[in-house]
Amino acid sequence: MIPYGRQEITQADVDAVIGVLQSDFLTQGPAVPQFEACVAGHVGARHGVACNSATSALHVACLALGLGPGDWLWTTPITFVASANCGLYCGAQVDFVDIDPRTYNLCPVALADKLAAAEAAGRLPKILVVVHLCGQPCDMAAIHALSQRYGFRIIEDASHAIGARYRGEYVGNGRYSDITVFSFHPVKIITTAEGGMALTNSDELAHKMALLRSHGITRDAAHMTHAPDGPWYYQQVELGFNYRMTELQAALGVSQMQRLDDYVARRHGLARRYDELLARMPVTVPWQHPDAHSALHLYVIRLNLDQIRQTHLEVFEALRQRGVGVNLHYIPVHSQPYYARMGFKVGDFPQSERYYAEAISLPMYPTLTHAQQDHVVHALEQVLTA
Ligand SMILES: *Cc1c(COP(=O)(O)O)cnc(C)c1O
Repeated sequence: MIPYGRQEITQADVDAVIGVLQSDFLTQGPAVPQFEACVAGHVGARHGVACNSATSALHVACLALGLGPGDWLWTTPITFVASANCGLYCGAQVDFVDIDPRTYNLCPVALADKLAAAEAAGRLPKILVVVHLCGQPCDMAAIHALSQRYGFRIIEDASHAIGARYRGEYVGNGRYSDITVFSFHPVKIITTAEGGMALTNSDELAHKMALLRSHGITRDAAHMTHAPDGPWYYQQVELGFNYRMTELQAALGVSQMQRLDDYVARRHGLARRYDELLARMPVTVPWQHPDAHSALHLYVIRLNLDQIRQTHLEVFEALRQRGVGVNLHYIPVHSQPYYARMGFKVGDFPQSERYYAEAISLPMYPTLTHAQQDHVVHALEQVLTA
């Protein structure tokens, strides 16, 4: 089975990890700060706070921005559940904004409408989590302008989008948001096995997130309520967690970062090839906004169901039978049973639901060969003309 995504591990990656195993520090050593500086430096952010997952990075990001009970967090329904769950972890309530039918990202027009209604009802969100779906940056200028008008904070869930650019600049530089989060899960652009990072230009937010990542404990006298009792002393000033990344993971991350731009370029080469090979099939290929240079984490096609005899499910199953490990990103979060219990229902976000009924993620990863890609295209052709 050709998977929809997979990591590449080189000898240099292996050597980097072995080097850490043979060193003094398996955790809390020099590799994590080195990885943080590497990623922050690459994307142009002041600070990087590495965590053991993007999910935990999203959690500390929400807490650092002061999210709590009585607050609202808004996000898109077409995302992984973690983009919404971070609000629930903080005791806040979650709501959604429908997607743009061309980019599949959170729609700024729908956002403007919903904000106007929420202002009238006195229920404005404290945080908006935008998701750069498939690696394509959202319309950040429009969303940022709305945040200025309505006073909400922005977290970019850039789990798909390290290496992407918006208006020529790397996602993560914080020009249009407070915090950006990357994921380093093996299917993402670069990997640390499990891992994530929160990027920010704010010294205060970086300090808070670093504190929350490690039990809310400080060893810095400047941040204590009174002078240390002695050289052993540490002080817990917040209720934090153990969300730390290990040194092994960070060393793998530094090694993988050397290939980030090459990976994104290879993904673009594959996407151009898919675009051409699929041009005459009854499918809609991904549309790229002129402001966006996607990281192309995913290559999602939509079936033009009115031109196809089979159902979405039949096409999906037939591709899997032909060894093509297609997937579906994502089941609209509001339709998950856990969220439906909060009162969300089918029909609430029609663009997202229509997308879900038509979308299929084709294999897309830097080591996908042209022969494998030809197999995918041929299988799709056979299935669609059956
Ligand atoms: C993968 C992913 C996450 C979670 O990342 P982890 O590192 O696995 O916690 C969050 N949001 C989106 C959009 C993702 O794709």
